[in-house]
Amino acid sequence: MGYYAAFLDVTDRRCLVVGGGEPALAKVRGLLEAGAQVTVVWDRLHPDLPALGVPLHERRFQESDLDGCFLVIDASQDEATGVRVSHAARDRGLPVNVLDRPTLCTFIAPALVRRGPLQVAISTSGRSPFLAAHLRRLVERWLSQEWGSIVELTGRLRDRLRQDGVPLSEQTIRYARALGSPALDLLRAGKSAAAEAAINKSDGHVALVGAGPGDPALLTVRAVDLLSRADLVLYDALVDPAALAWCRPDAELVCVGKRGGRTSVEQGTIEAHMIAAAHAGRFVVRLKGGDPFVFGRGGEEVLALAAAGITIEVVPGVSAATAGPALAGIPLTHRGLAASFAVTTARRADGGVHDFRDLAGADTLVVMMPVQALPQVSAQLIAAGRPPTCPVALVEGASTSRQRVVRARLDDVGRRVGQRPVEGPALLVVGAVVNALSGVTASDQSVQNGIPRRADAGGHPQLRVDGAQVSVNGAPADGELGRNLWSAQAARHQDEHLELSRRQGINRSPTS
Ligand code: SAH
Repeated sequence: MGYYAAFLDVTDRRCLVVGGGEPALAKVRGLLEAGAQVTVVWDRLHPDLPALGVPLHERRFQESDLDGCFLVIDASQDEATGVRVSHAARDRGLPVNVLDRPTLCTFIAPALVRRGPLQVAISTSGRSPFLAAHLRRLVERWLSQEWGSIVELTGRLRDRLRQDGVPLSEQTIRYARALGSPALDLLRAGKSAAAEAAINKSDGHVALVGAGPGDPALLTVRAVDLLSRADLVLYDALVDPAALAWCRPDAELVCVGKRGGRTSVEQGTIEAHMIAAAHAGRFVVRLKGGDPFVFGRGGEEVLALAAAGITIEVVPGVSAATAGPALAGIPLTHRGLAASFAVTTARRADGGVHDFRDLAGADTLVVMMPVQALPQVSAQLIAAGRPPTCPVALVEGASTSRQRVVRARLDDVGRRVGQRPVEGPALLVVGAVVNALSGVTASDQSVQNGIPRRADAGGHPQLRVDGAQVSVNGAPADGELGRNLWSAQAARHQDEHLELSRRQGINRSPTS
């Protein structure tokens, strides 16, 4: 069956609810919130109903209850009553909903998220109320209470612009600026006057945002929020285009990084572009691979923007420096093996290869951008005191569909890696931790085909902790203990989640 979605104006209309339990109570509340005049009929009434101040008839349904009605909901959960209510209402041409019985309904009620004037309705056409309720919880999390005020304030701006006869194209630009403004954050901080001012006129600003190692699922929630609101996005070549799918359709997207032989835009040009755009009142997101402050020149950009008097927000990202090893099944620290790690690049700022002596104290070393200088890097590391047999891993394209891990010895890694071209970004992990989980992550120390990724295996690489055993992506794991571990974690998570929901007053009423 197909359904046509619509919102009914029930203000001051008489609506009948048949039933007196929890579901009926939820329906009465929903109708009252929408401004309806509600009457309730049932022979057992919920103790919370009288406090709602609506007429209550403590008896079974009779046809005359429909006199003067605009809409009927049967939440009695009594089979025979449902049939009677449905037939009687349909005879009179009244819209009727019988809880959980789509064949008796002429309309179904969606799962609803309400934030002041904003309502998001979710329906599975009655196929799965459970999934509708699940999606409602996700939307509730995503749409904080402040969204009601944002809609209200933007509505007022719209009234004014229309009154002043501002052309639609100009109006749209104003709405986009309002969306890019910090109004939502100001409301969260309880600064409603400042939020209203920001909706009406916001100065331009810039966010330096980390995009994570590649997989857009590793973007932070804040990154997604800001990307979806930006006017202009300047992104690095390493950023997965799928991350850009979060951007507004009218946002300007500019790639400023090197890829496939194209030269990168000069750092000074990028900074000048951001400064000019922010001065013109635009909200700019500078999207960088990994974390903006880990070999991302983020610090330089902050200095340049600050010198130009521009407001800056820095949004950390999941750095490849930590995510790459993790996704390759290599713990950067591991009890008994490594208690410290250092992250560096293969080359110094002057172009020479790092001599690594200053990092000799770190148990684990992560070397970024190592590929062009692999033989020199391993020679320098050995010269700095690492044994030639020290385990290393080259992690390539971590989190992407091309992820590949090459395990080798320090004195042999150049030769091993040289056997196949390295296509994606790669980093080198050096230290005993490379083999910490080897019994379960790899059968040998040579080239692995990486961990299956979404594109080829339908799932994220996963580390499963089963008691003392660790396996990567489905390698056999010891059953019972692992399951218990996970279910205990899940139960704890559920408790925390319910407590959070209670504190946030999140709606848990049943839906159809
Ligand atoms: N700011 C980034 C690093 C930028 S420097 C971050 O925090 O991750 C670029 C280097 O990062 C690459 O040469 C490579 O060494 C590493 N890198 C970035 N993404 C990677 C990935 N998906 N897999 C492996 N290494 C990666």
